[in-house]
Amino acid sequence: MTLPELKLPDTLNYVGAFLTLQCNLSCSYCINDPEQKGQRESLFPIKAKTQRICLTPDEWTRALNRIPYRQDLPITLQGGEPMLYWGSKGVGQILSGTQHYFDLLTNFPVKPEAFANNLNGQQHKLQRDAPYPSIRVSYHAEEMNRVWHGHGFAELVARCEALSRYGFRVSPVKADSDVGIYMVAHPQNRLTAEMEAIYAGRVPFETKEFLGLHDGKLYGHYLYPFSTDLIAGGIHPRTLSCECRTTELLIDPLGFVWGCHFYLYQSWVSGGPLREFEALEAQDFRYKESGAGIFSSRILAPVGHLLDPDFAMSDLEVYRACHQYGRCIGCDTKIKNDRFQSYYDQGISHTSVEIRNIRMPESLYDKIDNLELASRFFAPTDR
Ligand code: SF4
Ligand code: SF4
Repeated sequence: MTLPELKLPDTLNYVGAFLTLQCNLSCSYCINDPEQKGQRESLFPIKAKTQRICLTPDEWTRALNRIPYRQDLPITLQGGEPMLYWGSKGVGQILSGTQHYFDLLTNFPVKPEAFANNLNGQQHKLQRDAPYPSIRVSYHAEEMNRVWHGHGFAELVARCEALSRYGFRVSPVKADSDVGIYMVAHPQNRLTAEMEAIYAGRVPFETKEFLGLHDGKLYGHYLYPFSTDLIAGGIHPRTLSCECRTTELLIDPLGFVWGCHFYLYQSWVSGGPLREFEALEAQDFRYKESGAGIFSSRILAPVGHLLDPDFAMSDLEVYRACHQYGRCIGCDTKIKNDRFQSYYDQGISHTSVEIRNIRMPESLYDKIDNLELASRFFAPTDR
């Protein structure tokens, strides 16, 4: 059955398909770990093969074909490590089955020849005319030096550069390159002179802002006070209630659509919605009809399922009650540009989620930097 096409609102900023949460590396600061405690392997263990832990490439194709093609809105394939998905052949199969442009967030786990072969001749779907590279390769010093015998960065740069032999544009200028390397500016990560000498004149390299707490210091700028550090920073003993909605379409490995990164990651930390998926599949994925019952014993429930014929983008525009405020993931609540560069050009701050009616305890008011500005997000009784 072909699913009805979705109507994309202008406010939609990002489409992220988390193909798998499995990864070949085990970084101590893992983007998928809400607690950032370096428990990658225990948090997302490899499940028994009999358990269904991801959609098939055909299901992904069907689901993603609901999204109207837009040159300026690529679908980002991410994880975990998306190039591992479906025996490493899945990304190529999904690219073959859809019209879209894609961005790919990867740690380049296989050699360039295998990487290119696995794309099924669909390289052009990763070659959008954009100011930044579509293939964004992340550098993880500790793990890559372990796997590549102390030559982690040199090997990564060589792999990226070699993509020029397989139909990709590779240039040190990021607007001219399909591939670029990114490193999180974690206080423990250093950009050394040796690294600069390795990448210079070959591939683009950038650091990405580190978001979160390290040694008691909060990194990043957030619109909503204490949204990421309320609990981790010991500011308050309990998460707060609020209402929240998102401007992003975040789809987990089983096709569930989540309201924010915390909900998505946390639901997989606790084992993933595997039983719920089985139950929903038996109902032809009709989440709108059956989802509430199926997820009734779960604290965190998704917004919908992308294979549900009744799923609509307007489902994301509804403010939903959330009782997890204070454990939000930094990328959801940090101040940034939208895809129209709103912050840099007009001073309009954009965040991935919009939060209102936060039940902020008065006892925390004197710890808030700009209380007058922040209080517009608080519930009326707390003002
Ligand atoms: S490569 Fe990314 S997903 Fe994998 S362990 Fe490292 S941070 Fe996590
Ligand atoms: S308040 Fe935070 S945890 Fe709750 S839905 Fe919004 S971003 Fe997610």
